[in-house]
Amino acid sequence: MEQTECKRCGLCCQKGGPALHGQDLALVRSGRLPTADLITLRRGELAHNPRSGTIEPLPAELVKIRGIGREWGCCYYQPTGQGCAIYRDRPLACGVLQCWQPKEILALVGQDLLSRLDILNDEDPLRPLVLEHERLCPCPDLAEVEKELVVRTAGILPALETAVRIDLAFRERVIKEFQLQLADELFLFGRPLFQLLQPFGLLLSESAQGLRLTMKKNYI
Ligand code: SF4
Ligand code: SF4
Repeated sequence: MEQTECKRCGLCCQKGGPALHGQDLALVRSGRLPTADLITLRRGELAHNPRSGTIEPLPAELVKIRGIGREWGCCYYQPTGQGCAIYRDRPLACGVLQCWQPKEILALVGQDLLSRLDILNDEDPLRPLVLEHERLCPCPDLAEVEKELVVRTAGILPALETAVRIDLAFRERVIKEFQLQLADELFLFGRPLFQLLQPFGLLLSESAQGLRLTMKKNYI
């Protein structure tokens, strides 16, 4: 039988939390959606584009509800039958989603996305950190990185290694100085670059010369 309404199966929530849009700003600013429950995906990171159905580098950053651990399923989804823990305050995209007729949710993809700088007000002492991190270590276009790694691994590794070191040194410094928790870090700076490179077979290790990036044996 043709689906005409939500069956409240929770599959959409288990696939991942929603990206936030302009209309969701009040939820975050009021604390009903704390930044500790958000994660930033920076420009250049790879993400599934529901319109094209492919994995692509993000043309602009997005902020979304985080998962749990390394899983992307929305952290507000309660699998024991209660469903969404913030149902009354769920973001715009959750209210619009109708999996059986996705026209409206697809029209929202990439539109009026909230960024970190939309969320952090002008006086927030953490705002300059976001700008400094972007200046020191912007996320590269990871689709390009993946292609380059295939054709010239040794040529591109030193630059990636330097970027990973800068990223980690920056995080270590500001985490100490501002006493940030992991959840703050994921919202403010997204995931560390070395983690984003792991799917391409790059591993981080510590050596006498400092941090090193190496390609897993026989990966390419
Ligand atoms: S929108 Fe679809 S996937 Fe999501 S809970 Fe409803 S029926 Fe399930
Ligand atoms: S906020 Fe609620 S409705 Fe939206 S994905 Fe999470 S659990 Fe599902």
